[in-house]
Amino acid sequence: MPTDRPVITRIAPSPTGYMHIGTARTALFNWLFARGHGGKFLLRIEDTDRERSTPEATAAIIKGMTWLGLDWDGEAVSQFDQKDRHAEVAHEMLARGAAYKCFASQEEIEAFRQAATEEKRSTLYRSPWRDADPATYPDAPYVIRMKAPQTGETVIEDAVQGTVTFRNDLLDDMIVLRSDGTPTYMLAVVVDDHDMGITHVIRGDDHLQNAARQTMVYQAMGWDIPVWAHIPLIFGPDGKKLSKRHGATGVEEYQVMGYPAAGMRNYLTRLGWAHGDDEFFTTQQAKEWFNLEGIGRAPARLDFKKLENLCGQHIAASDDAALLHELEAYLAAAGATPLTAPQRDRMSRAMYCLKDRAKKFPDLIEKAEFALNARPVEPDEASAKSLDAVSRGILKELTPRLQNVTWTKEMLEPVLTEVAATHGIGFGKLAAPLRAALAGRTATPSVYDMMLVLGQTETIARLEDAAA
Ligand code: GLU
Repeated sequence: MPTDRPVITRIAPSPTGYMHIGTARTALFNWLFARGHGGKFLLRIEDTDRERSTPEATAAIIKGMTWLGLDWDGEAVSQFDQKDRHAEVAHEMLARGAAYKCFASQEEIEAFRQAATEEKRSTLYRSPWRDADPATYPDAPYVIRMKAPQTGETVIEDAVQGTVTFRNDLLDDMIVLRSDGTPTYMLAVVVDDHDMGITHVIRGDDHLQNAARQTMVYQAMGWDIPVWAHIPLIFGPDGKKLSKRHGATGVEEYQVMGYPAAGMRNYLTRLGWAHGDDEFFTTQQAKEWFNLEGIGRAPARLDFKKLENLCGQHIAASDDAALLHELEAYLAAAGATPLTAPQRDRMSRAMYCLKDRAKKFPDLIEKAEFALNARPVEPDEASAKSLDAVSRGILKELTPRLQNVTWTKEMLEPVLTEVAATHGIGFGKLAAPLRAALAGRTATPSVYDMMLVLGQTETIARLEDAAA
């Protein structure tokens, strides 16, 4: 294991659809590990499958990574672009006697499999060309197969799974180069990881078996084997493999739902990794703390409550300006109308009283309704109820008294309390028509906060509108 080299990790997604939340978590683990070790984090697009790979899927990966703040070093590498290098290595394996040309046709192999199934024999294909004399080679298309060891075991020392042993007699001589000269996935991954200097391969445990086959390629080429860390997949809340019926599985959906990126990073970091009892932490802390030892062996379960809870804490802890910036990015991602300049201005003044108890950006927007809406305020059904004749009378009496007040909470408080007292009601009773007048909603930030954010002129105008 290359422990003396600086850490280099990678995420190697196949661009064949949307970006799965599991891929995002794998990317995050690799990113944290690299960043925490002063190493590099690389992005490789595994686009060798030309039929299934699309530019849209690559764009979705880039977008998802960017949203989550997972910056990679250098340019994204296209696996397809390395195809000549893959072929070169396959031929080097031939030259080293670690691979051989196999002339068996698809039909022959198919016939073998069928017969084996019918006779209930092992369907593991053993090519007759493995030890054939090159003098007997026909002038025909061939694939290059790895000359895999047929006895003994291949042992994976995995940082998460421990020592995992595979019986070599159960593995076939896998194809490394197809007859059209294109590499198989199993070869391409190893060549690229080697050429990119990857020291740690952190990926889903659905690739554990591949690690055994890939180890054979490293050994055949005499290359350093990276540190393996195969992480358990993400399950739904019911303990079943995560699928659409559990809710969102695509990274983009989470952005569109309005989760803040910092909360998402925190949640995904905790999903299958632990640092004592810490639940809420910053990205900086995660970079410092993240290690392979903290990755659990049991599948992690997606828990939306916990996600929301952490997101709420991150919103509350965010800097106002940064939050506003992210909120605008959310509006764009969700295809909503962008803020106008006056709305942005009010939002930035309102942010301090919006961010408590908001779990997602839509919660912030809902609370910000009073600041976003222009006059005249249209009270919703519930709040309209508190604007009866009596309370309109009180508002009418209040407005002139607000004309000469210094616009601070300290100066406003005695005025409002006094008006309430004159009518023999507590401030609570007065707050309802004020909310209706200022926001047209029953759930709003505090009356004082709204008055301060709206300012004197706008507040008085809204009260006059409601009193009329
Ligand atoms: N392209 C593979 C995938 O998307 C990942 C390969 C790897 O991480 O080694 O599942």
